[in-house]
Amino acid sequence: MNKNYPNTWHSIIVGAGASGLFCAGSYSAPKLLLEHNPQAGRKLNITGGGKCNFTNLQATPNAYLCGGKHFCQPALAAFTPVDFTALLEQAHIPFYEKEDGQLFAQSAEEITSLLVRRAREQHTEILFNTEVLHITQGQGLWRLETSRGLFYAQNMVLASGGYSYPSLGADGFAWRMGKELGLQTLPPRPALVSLTLPAPWRAVCRTLAGNSLPAEISTGKRKERGMILFTHEGISGPAVLQISLYWQEGEKLRLNFLPGTDAEIYFKEHKNSPQLFSKLLSPFISPKIAKAWLGELDVRAADAKKDILHAAARRLNSLETIPSGTGGFTRAEVTAGGLDTAQFHAGSLECKSLPGLFVIGEALDVTGRLGGFNLHWAWASAAAAARALAKK
Ligand SMILES: Cc1cc2nc3c(=O)[nH]c(=O)nc-3n(C[C@H](O)[C@H](O)[C@H](O)COP(=O)(O)OP(=O)(O)OC[C@H]3O[C@@H](n4cnc5c(N)ncnc54)[C@H](O)[C@@H]3O)c2cc1C
Repeated sequence: MNKNYPNTWHSIIVGAGASGLFCAGSYSAPKLLLEHNPQAGRKLNITGGGKCNFTNLQATPNAYLCGGKHFCQPALAAFTPVDFTALLEQAHIPFYEKEDGQLFAQSAEEITSLLVRRAREQHTEILFNTEVLHITQGQGLWRLETSRGLFYAQNMVLASGGYSYPSLGADGFAWRMGKELGLQTLPPRPALVSLTLPAPWRAVCRTLAGNSLPAEISTGKRKERGMILFTHEGISGPAVLQISLYWQEGEKLRLNFLPGTDAEIYFKEHKNSPQLFSKLLSPFISPKIAKAWLGELDVRAADAKKDILHAAARRLNSLETIPSGTGGFTRAEVTAGGLDTAQFHAGSLECKSLPGLFVIGEALDVTGRLGGFNLHWAWASAAAAARALAKK
């Protein structure tokens, strides 16, 4: 303990969420973990609907949106999904693969408890109900002003997450701190989130709320296939959450409710049928969804003029609309944007201009696709920082 600076630690980690807890348990040094919530891993506990989709077997840099194209590579290569499952096996925590390489636990709380235990075993003191207010640097030490007074550390790890789910403690502290420390940040944006549609389509979605169908959704050059769920304000479901990662405000979205089928050709093949289009589509789409989506264009095939047939087919295969917004940070699974990765060493997550400062997890401008990739980034970035901290 430094006499001039009581309360001086080898390292202080801000945030006892996924990345902070994992980092604390991955190297041995007297360290302090500060958390403003009354407990650890509040968000972690509700991930994957309480079952925690903790990794994905296909966790490669392609699954991430990040300013620096290859930035995630070293951390992901050094900490793989198998490294995390080995920890679970050692702790006798059961897990299973759901689909597309997504690994789930039986209970997210079991994972949180394991991470807290690991952190304590590696000489971590955890202080709850402690809000970090400001961080400054001077005389080779980091000075943390908190709701419980001043703390000092040789190394600082910012693991405070993003803005999403403010009810669980997220408040964008990393963006504020980044600015105070003179670092570049990319603006926060809700991602893996539902989209709201403009007035006429919103009304249709409302009548279909709770129904879902397999579809294709695209924006710019990105295309996603998967389930779309209608909500009271627009659309959600896996395909929508994925596309929300790439969609920017004001951009067009294209919806295809008949992926792999050309509706115009199909209708022409049935042009003498006395059935309504919505009925004719029943091998592909539930008549309820088709009827609501086609609206005034839902006519008998035999009566359909050329322009109506064409318009109905376009509405099914390539409806274009500009979403009016997203479900916002209250509903977004993650926050895109964050501290610009160009300022950090990719292998250690240490800041190039401020040695001794590490930023991990969602606070960095690295956002994963839906399916366990964000938690895997939390673990991999935490492990990378821990390897470097162990040598300090
Ligand atoms: C509903 C939901 C479900 C999700 N499901 C999955 C899933 O199944 N799989 C997946 O990969 N990802 C999932 N995610 C995303 C995943 O939870 C995050 O990517 C991950 O938790 C990020 O880890 P982190 O450590 O960066 O931030 P967090 O886990 O958010 O931890 C940050 C911690 O810092 C604390 N903190 C913030 N500011 C301060 C401060 N000033 N002082 C003290 N403490 C502070 C916060 O209270 C919090 O505990 C889900 C997210 C949500 C919202």
